[in-house]
Amino acid sequence: MKVGIIGGGIAGLSVGYYLSMQRDIEVTIFEKKSILGGLASSFKIDGDNLIERYYHFICSPDNDYLNLIDALGLQNYLNWKKTKMGLFYNNKLYPFGTPIDLLKFSQFTFLDKIKFGLGVFKIKSKDKNAWKDFENTLACQWLPHQFGQKAYEIVHKPLLEEKFGSFSDSISAAWMWARIHRLGKSRTKILQLEKLGYLFGGTNTIIEKLAQNILQNGGKIIKDVECKKILLENNKVKEIICDGITYNYDIVISTIPSPLFLNLVNDYTHPYFDKLKKIDSIGVMCVCMRLVKSFSKNFWLNISDSKIPLAGIIEYTNLNPCPFLNGDTIVYIPQYLPANSEEYSLPDDKIIEEYIGYLKIINPEFNKNWIKSSYVFRDEYAQPICEVGFTQYIPEIKTPIEGLYLTDSYQLHPDDRAVSYSIGLGKQVTKLILAHQEHK
Ligand SMILES: Cc1cc2nc3c(=O)[nH]c(=O)nc-3n(C[C@H](O)[C@H](O)[C@H](O)COP(=O)(O)OP(=O)(O)OC[C@H]3O[C@@H](n4cnc5c(N)ncnc54)[C@H](O)[C@@H]3O)c2cc1C
Repeated sequence: MKVGIIGGGIAGLSVGYYLSMQRDIEVTIFEKKSILGGLASSFKIDGDNLIERYYHFICSPDNDYLNLIDALGLQNYLNWKKTKMGLFYNNKLYPFGTPIDLLKFSQFTFLDKIKFGLGVFKIKSKDKNAWKDFENTLACQWLPHQFGQKAYEIVHKPLLEEKFGSFSDSISAAWMWARIHRLGKSRTKILQLEKLGYLFGGTNTIIEKLAQNILQNGGKIIKDVECKKILLENNKVKEIICDGITYNYDIVISTIPSPLFLNLVNDYTHPYFDKLKKIDSIGVMCVCMRLVKSFSKNFWLNISDSKIPLAGIIEYTNLNPCPFLNGDTIVYIPQYLPANSEEYSLPDDKIIEEYIGYLKIINPEFNKNWIKSSYVFRDEYAQPICEVGFTQYIPEIKTPIEGLYLTDSYQLHPDDRAVSYSIGLGKQVTKLILAHQEHK
């Protein structure tokens, strides 16, 4: 059986790996870029070592990721580290990662602290599926009720606004619930710092290993090729056209963002495709800076300041020290923006200049001379906008076209997109295909 996989990100490589282990299945992965990994791909920093375009950490509940690390024999590459979290509020940087930090946080009254702590504890102690109770509730209404008005104003509201911009008031509480649940589970003891994981070599280590296994199993990976059209015959997939070349397949799996998938099937008429059109995504723009000094002790720094429109500052080397940097540090500064916004298209040097200004507000000692090099990365489809009622629009993996399957971060709701969940999607689509073959 011949399987064509569109997209060489984590989902495409995972499904390619699982299917290529089956006898009689021949997989080919098509990737539009010259490098594999999609949102989790890397670049050569200063033309030298590879570093991720965006920061990636592993959480202890990331079972599909951890199982794949084992299956690929990468256990020795996995490291766990206790990391610090900070909060910049009212012109001051506060530690904000443990219950003790919360008790010391001078901007909350004693009652605010109790409410906030209990709010996290209640979510953390619930079953993973309890999010369903919050699916039709607005996050902006549920959060003040769950954590108190003050905590909402200082902690949650800025997070929602920075992640979803003008959509923040319509986001489902289920999304926030699941995010707090996943991160809460990364801390096993109440007074413990958050323990996060990373691979030596970053996410690229698993990307390379997956690609290597696929090739060893007889699969093919074609880079620098953009799929433009999926062709059918009698409501069954037949061919993919990539850069003018036609390839025949029994099964086609799209792992690319749904708005791009819709371009490949633009003449199909079925409510499935109409439903897909209703979901929107927001883009990300992220500055990656190599600094000669450490910006702060935190891995993750949340920002609650209306003058600073950033989603946070992530000092990646406080998690993964990247020894090849010889003591330099890596700081990521993400900002979520609609891809059609003016800010998204500003020239890189303007963006970097603007962000330097924000960094100086947060750490007045910071100055331009700390920067060894800086890069700006953008992706148009970085985050599904999961508004209230989002569940009704989630597409099924098996499309109404015979032999055509789709994976997308939309299907992860209420979980936020993550490497582990994309691996999970790869597993699910493999199971569906194998089950379908057995029934034939
Ligand atoms: C800023 C940021 C931070 C993140 N941090 C974390 C984190 O800390 N931990 C974590 O677990 N996850 C994190 N993630 C999420 C993680 O990166 C994604 O969930 C995951 O990489 C998605 O993989 P995917 O394969 O589903 O999609 P994608 O990565 O989008 O892959 C799709 C691939 O398809 C290719 N493609 C598109 N169109 C075509 C076409 N027509 N023909 C051929 N190829 C095509 C693209 O080039 C891409 O390679 C983060 C994401 C972002 C944006």
